[in-house]
Amino acid sequence: MKHVLLVDDEEEICDFLKGFLEERNYQVDFVLSAEEALVFLDKKQPDLCVFDIKMPGMNGIELLREVKQKWRDVKVIMLSAVDNEDMLQQAMSLGVEQYLIKPLDLEQLHKTFQEIGA
Ligand SMILES: [Mg+2]
Repeated sequence: MKHVLLVDDEEEICDFLKGFLEERNYQVDFVLSAEEALVFLDKKQPDLCVFDIKMPGMNGIELLREVKQKWRDVKVIMLSAVDNEDMLQQAMSLGVEQYLIKPLDLEQLHKTFQEIGA
């Protein structure tokens, strides 16, 4: 079973995604901030991470930068509420696997997981 870590400051989104993914046989954990994500990842690296971009404190781009420095092989999908070209460029240059725009199309998300082998 593939293990996924969700990082989003909106708990409802985490709950919703967790339910959707668990129904599709993923093991899912979530945390509500980038800082918590780094603590989590220090202990265990999942097969795939999903990071929200806009979060209080450290944002998703900063988290991505740090994660890719420490754990090169961790796969990351970014989520953003706005189609922000600048953020997209930054995320791509930091090695993100895929970038999805909210509101989320869940089937698209699932398809993306399969495409990147998670
Ligand atoms: Mg957010």
